[in-house]
Amino acid sequence: MSDPKLIRGRIVRAQSGFFDVETELGQHTAQLRGRLKQEQLETDVAAVGDQVEIRVLPDGSAMIETVAPRSRVLSRQAPGREAEQVLVANLDLGVFVFACAEPDPIPGQLRMLDRMLVGAERESIPVLICANKVDLVDPQEARRIFGRYAEIGYQLLYTSALTGEGIDTLRSALADHVSVFAGPSGTGKSSLLRALQPDIELRIGEVSEATGKGTHTTVAPKLVKLDSGGYVADTPGVKAFALWDIEPEELDAYFREIAPLVADCAFSNCTHIHEPGCAVLRALEVGEIHSERYDSYVRLRSS
Ligand code: GDP
Ligand code: ZN
Repeated sequence: MSDPKLIRGRIVRAQSGFFDVETELGQHTAQLRGRLKQEQLETDVAAVGDQVEIRVLPDGSAMIETVAPRSRVLSRQAPGREAEQVLVANLDLGVFVFACAEPDPIPGQLRMLDRMLVGAERESIPVLICANKVDLVDPQEARRIFGRYAEIGYQLLYTSALTGEGIDTLRSALADHVSVFAGPSGTGKSSLLRALQPDIELRIGEVSEATGKGTHTTVAPKLVKLDSGGYVADTPGVKAFALWDIEPEELDAYFREIAPLVADCAFSNCTHIHEPGCAVLRALEVGEIHSERYDSYVRLRSS
């Protein structure tokens, strides 16, 4: 039976050994119980997004007693460190924001999207693609560019932070999730977050009482609660989704439209670039695979 004095919560901020934990009974700043600290792990013991149990001591301070196993981690290899650094644990949704125009979704931009999708597939992180600034182009043009992603099964939303189009749908998609916004700069990530939660900058800027430090010193993202439900990580995982080293041979598994064809290739070690009897090349020829998606595959494969 679980200890009745333990309160369940989620770490929403981690800084210098202090963890802000949001619980049903309000927010507490907690430190790790010594026993947890000593555990030799190849990853952070506790991180933003982790579900924990805390004990509040008579003097008002709090200790993290347990950390639940995490899934779907957004991480990076810390320079000079063996261990991975967890950016966000228990991530539910990657919101990939690209613009219909300004910056124009030239092939280079969409290759970045394809790369981010590979990262998300590898970590099994669900994705919502936001084709933002839809007010700048006609809807047909927006569909011509981004429609390919809906066709292969990605959740795709046309939004405008300017006119409010799609914002309510985006808001419901985020409710009850821990999400992170990612995408090239200037595509409207901050504007969308402001449209969702007008005081978001205030919430991001809140200073942790425990450490008295402002956001300038923040190394790990903080989770910001939305009034409509759910949490958003404050620092967009701009590059985080493109960081993983992926072995060339496993790449085809992370392209949704390519993966199911691989079994039909004549050679079991087919690269899908030049082999005879390649099911992927056949699909490309008849237009079942979008040529720019295929270009992304080839470029990633040979990089
Ligand atoms: P971020 O770098 O991804 O956070 O992008 P910002 O939110 O800072 O937006 C970059 C610029 O695009 C700003 O000048 C915004 O006003 C503008 N912008 C953002 N969203 C939209 C939109 O939906 N439509 C239009 N027309 N402009 C937008
Ligand atoms: Zn093949």
